[in-house]
Amino acid sequence: MAEFLQAKDNRRILHVDIDAFYAQVEMRDNPALRKVPLGIGRDPDLHHGHGVIATANYIARRAGVHSAMESIEAKRACPNLVFVAPDFEKYRAISGQIHQIFHEFTDMIEPVALDEAYLDVTANKMAAPTLAAQLRHRIWQETQLTCSVGVSYNKVLAKLGSEHHKPNGVTVIPHELAQDFVLNLPIKDFRGVGKKTLEKFEKMGVTDGRDLYAMSLDELRVQFGSFGDVLYWQARATHFSPVKDRSVRQSVGKESTFELALHDRSEVEMTFKTLAEKVVLNMKKKKLLGRTLTVKIRDDDFKTQTKGMTQAVPFELDAAFLARQAMLIFDEAYPDNFSIRLLGLTFSNIVEQKYEAVSLFDSL
Ligand SMILES: [Mg+2]
Repeated sequence: MAEFLQAKDNRRILHVDIDAFYAQVEMRDNPALRKVPLGIGRDPDLHHGHGVIATANYIARRAGVHSAMESIEAKRACPNLVFVAPDFEKYRAISGQIHQIFHEFTDMIEPVALDEAYLDVTANKMAAPTLAAQLRHRIWQETQLTCSVGVSYNKVLAKLGSEHHKPNGVTVIPHELAQDFVLNLPIKDFRGVGKKTLEKFEKMGVTDGRDLYAMSLDELRVQFGSFGDVLYWQARATHFSPVKDRSVRQSVGKESTFELALHDRSEVEMTFKTLAEKVVLNMKKKKLLGRTLTVKIRDDDFKTQTKGMTQAVPFELDAAFLARQAMLIFDEAYPDNFSIRLLGLTFSNIVEQKYEAVSLFDSL
């Protein structure tokens, strides 16, 4: 192994994955669904045979139902499968709640999906397994949802860990156990190994990490091209890709200051409209949504007031609506005479909008 790669990787990374996310949310919100096989997707009987399963609960999984399966096929496998149409608005709002919790532990967060993220907690003083336990507790407390967490020193191992004891489990893979963990892993569980790769490995008689470890880098490259490198290093429990801090910034806002103080309500209204338009444009460009809207007002005496409104579901990005909300706050703070030097409008409790386009459901 190259010498520089033998250096101990001292990072501490968590991979967090909410168990059967959409299904678990629907079961949480409707107890009648907890004891039946549940598929989140369209009922094929009501949609001319169309529909795809986004997520299934564990009862349905035991009957052979899995995500990305055609609804009609799922029904064949499990005739009493109950279908519930997905509610992405709801899932996004919950995902936002969960990300808020992530930020209590670290700001180095790489979201993978609505229900999945890598957290680099190296800077946090507490032991990573303790953080994993606390994180799971906080998520349960806030959302009544369970998750699985993998704890290790790189992303691949953390991910393999979260898959290891699913659902509702924690797997810690420290340095001293990592190589063994990987050697004993069935070949199908390695990252990136799909149906085709698996077939190839089967023909080659490669069934687990030990067989993979025995293959040379050249051999793997001949068989799998550049993916061969990925496999080679996975078998050595080595992976240096950082947690890509794609966590959304904490706020997006705009302020205006005035040389000449504003005394007229219509001027204030106009300013809020302009600010709202700019903020909305900025949010749309960055594909962000916010759950908290904060209005900032500073008067001639340099008295600054900030007032926030928080919603469970992100605010709609409608400038006129936001300006009206700002005016409600303004009118309450300054019912009559005023002399205003600064107005500001800021979104916080930011959530990403980018998971909206789930291609499986484009037809919904
Ligand atoms: Mg999940």
